[in-house]
Amino acid sequence: MALKRAFIFLGPPGAGKGTQAKRMAQRSGLAHLSTGDMLREAVSRGTELGRVVRPIMERGELVPDDLVMKMIEERLARPDCAGGLMFDGFPRTLAQAERLDAILESAGFGKPVVVDLSVSHDKLMRRLTGRWTCSVGGEIYNVYDAPPKTPGICDHDGGKLVQRADDRAEVVKERLAAYDRATKPLTEYYQRQGVLHTVDAAASVDEVSRALSEIVERAERRDGHL
Ligand SMILES: [Zn+2]
Repeated sequence: MALKRAFIFLGPPGAGKGTQAKRMAQRSGLAHLSTGDMLREAVSRGTELGRVVRPIMERGELVPDDLVMKMIEERLARPDCAGGLMFDGFPRTLAQAERLDAILESAGFGKPVVVDLSVSHDKLMRRLTGRWTCSVGGEIYNVYDAPPKTPGICDHDGGKLVQRADDRAEVVKERLAAYDRATKPLTEYYQRQGVLHTVDAAASVDEVSRALSEIVERAERRDGHL
């Protein structure tokens, strides 16, 4: 029997990981797993897990790995994962990657196929620090690539454009450096296992999407899905 396939998406803030993962899930029929979404869903549905993690999340703290792993294990057993799945934003540490491998294996998945969306820091700085949002309608502009007609003012409703605290230059620099520090052991781990694919995410959304589709198709052919 062919192994079920798990894909893992890695990529710094601003690399378009969420967008690409969503597209890929829709096109390939893979279940799209975001641990952040799963935790928020558990909290809003008031499940047993939700009640445990709610105060942790409200304090802005990280949910302990044991809880996250248990949540993933349960999620893997749902029928929509039978055709394969993709993780978006998880794992973030080497310890999580190792535990995830074990969980996947016992749930009948093959070794994960890992895609690293790579973009230079210069490009990411431009994407992230250029992002300003309308305080009225939520429209998003990029002062470098998609500026409003009048600086600081929304084209649609005249709302004032504001920058998220997270998108200020000093903060972005620190976020990117923190991402690199945390992710390097992870990419090295997957590299050693021979499952890491690096995709140039500076290309257009469609080009990146095509490159990702090819990786998925190759993996599925190899597993005898096609
Ligand atoms: Zn607006």
